[in-house]
Amino acid sequence: MSETETLDCLACGACCRTGHDGRILIPPEDLVYWRRIGRPDIAERIQPGHFGLDAFATRPDGSCVWLGTEASPNACQIYETRGTTCREFEAGSPQCLEFRRDFGVQRSR
Ligand code: SF4
Ligand code: SF4
Repeated sequence: MSETETLDCLACGACCRTGHDGRILIPPEDLVYWRRIGRPDIAERIQPGHFGLDAFATRPDGSCVWLGTEASPNACQIYETRGTTCREFEAGSPQCLEFRRDFGVQRSR
């Protein structure tokens, strides 16, 4: 079984801890979508991001404000309606594996 097959994003959250300086970008259509489905609160918790785009607001440690649930500090609170950037970030990609190494996430988590 490859490492990709064993990765559990809801038990990891490493890439959700890299948002300082507005790195987890939000395309404008996501903001429209969240308002349309009755979640304007998601569209409002933003900060200026790279390339003139909006980005998810972050805590002082760089983690996304939506990271962490009662069940797990590594799970996304809005996983089912998370942003395009989050959904398109490929688990098992070289950057994913680098983030996991940087944050000390073990393979089994
Ligand atoms: S770093 Fe990789 S495994 Fe961890 S949450 Fe992000 S995409 Fe998923
Ligand atoms: S919205 Fe969820 S998946 Fe996206 S960066 Fe924040 S915690 Fe991670």
